[in-house]
Amino acid sequence: MQVARLHGPTDIRIADEPEPPPPAPGEVTLQIKTVGLCGSDLHMYETGRIGYTVASQPFVLGHEFMGEVAAVGEEALDGEHQPLRIGQRVAVEPAVPCWRCELCESGHPNLCPHHYFYGLFPEDGALRERMNVSARNCFPLPDSLSDEVGPLLETLGVAIHTVDLSKLRIGATVSVLGAGPVGLLITRLAVLAGASQVFAFDKFDWRLRVADAWGATYAYNVDDCDPADVVMDLTGGRGVDVAIEAAWSDHSVQQAAEMARYGGRLVLVGIPPDDKLQLQHSVARRKGLTIIMSRRMKHTYPRAIQLATSGRVKLEELVSHRFDLSQTAQAYASNAAYERGINKVILRVG
Ligand SMILES: [Zn+2]
Ligand SMILES: [Zn+2]
Repeated sequence: MQVARLHGPTDIRIADEPEPPPPAPGEVTLQIKTVGLCGSDLHMYETGRIGYTVASQPFVLGHEFMGEVAAVGEEALDGEHQPLRIGQRVAVEPAVPCWRCELCESGHPNLCPHHYFYGLFPEDGALRERMNVSARNCFPLPDSLSDEVGPLLETLGVAIHTVDLSKLRIGATVSVLGAGPVGLLITRLAVLAGASQVFAFDKFDWRLRVADAWGATYAYNVDDCDPADVVMDLTGGRGVDVAIEAAWSDHSVQQAAEMARYGGRLVLVGIPPDDKLQLQHSVARRKGLTIIMSRRMKHTYPRAIQLATSGRVKLEELVSHRFDLSQTAQAYASNAAYERGINKVILRVG
């Protein structure tokens, strides 16, 4: 089968590799259909590392994906404890926790220290024609959701978890720094959750247009303004209840702290390329900010599927570019260069 493997920074090669073995108990074999390209994949692609994880050997990227069940192991129950059947289309939650450590047992499987994650070194991801996955991580897709939006349920899951952590209250004011797919989905969820004002910031106008269409009260280009000044002006000097950082830039955490109100919440979901958090201590301290780091998600797929099926979140509007598996290197290069109009890139595998 065809596999796209990352051999080192910006070095993706397609090769013919052996098929996966028959699925073990609790596993299914998936015929992979689509894979989304994520900002975290770009870090790995450009530098061969993300945070303190360094890819010391070639491996396969791809953690946002969906596929069709091609073979079923014994006791292959999906994420809602239903038996999986051959031919079913499923989206896959990429993190596989141990389910028996202190964190898992106390309701935080997203923080399990013993987990593995499809598409994060050393675990191979979905840029290949077939792979075995944990059945429990599979969530069947309704017919109304296309193959193309399946991978975006992972992105939406990350956004849902972030908004959960923000404890957003109805009528609250929110700012979202960064309008990539995660930032845009957070913006949309904040609107749906009843925020009274939602500020969106980004450096790409085409993304700000989506924020605007999805209900942001204000959408500003960070190259044309000082985001903190804008928020302070438009909130009468008060600041927002919740500031969410979903960008990668050096200043975005600081800006988010500056635009939060006294006693406000700062939620960080962006991953900086230099692995450093830059924040002036006194700004956060004097306001008594609650700072929360968002890590992955907790059983958010059923809610994500509901939101997408009902049309309240239009995942298809995020898909800007499509490539075949054989064009994986080109897809990554286009995304890394931020070609005009680029938002979510989808790779079509099968
Ligand atoms: Zn991702
Ligand atoms: Zn665990």
